[in-house]
Amino acid sequence: MPTADLAARRALLQLAATDRLADAAAHDRGTLPEIGVISDGSKRAAELAGKIALAQAEVSDIDTAARKLDAEIDSVRARAARDNERLTSGGAASKELESLQREVESLARRQSTLEDEALELMERREVAEAALAAVESELATITADVEAATVRRNDRWADIDDEIARLAAQRATLVADVPPDVLAIYTRVRGAGKVAAAALVGDRCGGCQMALDRQSLEEIRSAADDTVARCPECGAILVRDA
Ligand SMILES: [Zn+2]
Repeated sequence: MPTADLAARRALLQLAATDRLADAAAHDRGTLPEIGVISDGSKRAAELAGKIALAQAEVSDIDTAARKLDAEIDSVRARAARDNERLTSGGAASKELESLQREVESLARRQSTLEDEALELMERREVAEAALAAVESELATITADVEAATVRRNDRWADIDDEIARLAAQRATLVADVPPDVLAIYTRVRGAGKVAAAALVGDRCGGCQMALDRQSLEEIRSAADDTVARCPECGAILVRDA
């Protein structure tokens, strides 16, 4: 039967309190609101980077089409200028004049069509550029949010890690006061996710808050002081005199 003297029993209660604080600190560390901000923001930033690449490609495609169109307009203008020169030089025969005249008219229509297309491209470019600017602006905001959240998270982690280190040192001191066989019971109960040591308050277990039945209470009260008592409900080591 494992036994624990008063110092060991008090150490067990402090150990349970220390472990509870350490568990809470570890839980806080993993559930800081900044973690969600960083994770969601990073996902959104990746989506936006994809959208920016698409928007940039669209602007670039429009520029390529506009350059091609400009070159075509230049060549139509040059040809019309040559035809007009030939028409006004007076050296062409009447049949050639008619043909030149028709070509000049046709080139004028072609130029007008191409210029309309160029105008339409300019409008499309403005829309595409505005869309690109909007996505870039959203990305800048989200990047700043993620950076700020990362700084806050790291600050909180540093504080929590200090606290966890302090609790670990405290735990090491307390564990030294508990006999190994009693500590083994404590470790097993704690491993099951339960409070492993608790005060017996009146007829209640401070771990699970259940009232002990009369017989269990009798057994605990009549046992020697250093007997390690257990809660029949949750298995916690019960300390009745701390
Ligand atoms: Zn209990």
